Amino acid sequence: MTSSLTSSRLAEEERDRPFSRSQDETTDTTTQTDSARTNLKNLLPHELAAWFGAHGEKPFRARQLVKWLYQKYEQDFLRMTDLSGALRERLNTLAVIPGLDLVTHQRAVAGDTEKFLFRLPDGNTLETVLMHFDDHLGPGRATLCISTQVGCAMGCVFCASGQSGVLRNLETWEIVDQVLSVQRLIASRGERIANVVYMGIGEPLANYTNTIRSVKILNHEEGLAIGMRHIAISTSGLVPAMLRLGLEKLPLRLAISLHAANNELRSALMPVNKLYPLERLIAACHTYQQQTGRRITFEYCCIRDINDSDADAHAVGRLLEGVHALLNIIPLNPVEGYNGQRPAPARVHAFQQIIESYGIKTTVRQTMGVDIAAACGQLRRNETQVIAGRTIARVGKVGLEKRS
Ligand code: SAH
Ligand code: SF4
Repeated sequence: MTSSLTSSRLAEEERDRPFSRSQDETTDTTTQTDSARTNLKNLLPHELAAWFGAHGEKPFRARQLVKWLYQKYEQDFLRMTDLSGALRERLNTLAVIPGLDLVTHQRAVAGDTEKFLFRLPDGNTLETVLMHFDDHLGPGRATLCISTQVGCAMGCVFCASGQSGVLRNLETWEIVDQVLSVQRLIASRGERIANVVYMGIGEPLANYTNTIRSVKILNHEEGLAIGMRHIAISTSGLVPAMLRLGLEKLPLRLAISLHAANNELRSALMPVNKLYPLERLIAACHTYQQQTGRRITFEYCCIRDINDSDADAHAVGRLLEGVHALLNIIPLNPVEGYNGQRPAPARVHAFQQIIESYGIKTTVRQTMGVDIAAACGQLRRNETQVIAGRTIARVGKVGLEKRS
C-alpha cells in the first residue's frame, strides 16, 4: 500500500507541471524526513485509513490518529494513550510525524500582527503571519497567512518574496504544519485560527498538488476543520493551474494578483504576464466561474505614479466588467530593492471610487505588521539558507525566456 500511494503521488506530481521546466528542477516534493518511514502528516485522512489497513490495522485507527495530530496537537506516537502500547511502538518504527521548529516569534507594536519564522528539516526557513482583524471574525479568531514554497520564482518587481528565486516546493505537511504549529501556540491563549490565506511566500499554484492536499487536510472535519469558505488561495495567474483548480469545484476563495490592466505594464511588474497575458487570464476567470459559480477576488497593489491613475482605474473597471469580482486594493508596502512609493490615501480613495462606478465591489487592505516586515510582499526567504549546488530559478530570467 505504501508503494502504491507513493507511485500515485508521483503520478500526480508528474501532472503538476503547469509552469516551467526550470522551476520543476528546483522542486523536491517527495522529500521525507526519514525515507525508510512513512510521513503520516503528508497523507490525506482516507490515505491514512488505507495505510493502517495495509499494515493490518483497523482503518478507524486513522481517525484516532487524526484527532491526536490535529485536535490535540500531539507530536509523539508514544503519548497517544488510546492506542495500544504495541501499536504505538509499531508506529514509531514504521512512520514519522515531523514538526516545524519555531525559530523566532515577533509581535508588531500595534499587537494586531505576529510573525513566526520556522525551520524546516532541511535547514531552510519559512515565514507565517498571524493577523487579528478587529472585524467580523469575533474575539480570539485569527487569520493565518501561510507560505507554499521556499522563495518564489515569479519575480514580481515589488515583492520581497521573489527577490532570490525559489529553492523548492514545500511538502504537504510543511504547509499544514504552519497552521498546526501556530494553532497549538495560540490555543493556550484561548485563540483559534478561523481563516487561512495562502498569501505568504511562494506561488501556491506552482506547487499545485501539495497546496490542494494541504487544503483538504486543513478542511477535514475531524482535524483542524477550517471551513473551505475560510480558505483563500492567491495566485499571480498561472492559467493552466487555475483551470485545473476550477475542475476540483472546491468552494474556497480564489484571489488573483492583477496589479495592472494592460499587458505592457503588467508584464513589467509581473513577468508571469508574458506567459499568461491578460486575455488568457480573464478567459480563465470566466471558465473558473462557470465551473464553480464563485466570485473571484482580484488584488491590486497600488503604486504611486505607476498604476494608480484615473486612467488605470478605468482600465481595471473595463477589464473586470462581466466578471463577478471583488477588487482588493493593497497600497504598496515598502520593500528593500524596489523604490516604488505608496500612493497618498486620497489617491487610493479616488482610484477606489472609479472602480466602484463600474459596479465592482472594492476593499482597501489594512496595512498590518510593517514594523516586523510581515505585511503583504515583505516576507522573504532567508538567503543564508541556500543549499549548495541547487539551482535557483527566477521566472523573469529563466522560465519565461525559455518558453518564449
Ligand atoms: N504569490 C501569490 C500569493 C502571495 S503574495 C500571489 O502573488 O498572488 C500576496 C499578495 O501581496 C499578492 O497580491 C502580491 O502581489 C501582493 N504583494 C506583493 N508584494 C507587495 C508589496 N510590496 N506591497 C503590497 N502588496 C504586495
Ligand atoms: Fe511570488 Fe506572489 Fe511575490 Fe509575485 S507577489 S513574487 S508571485 S510571492
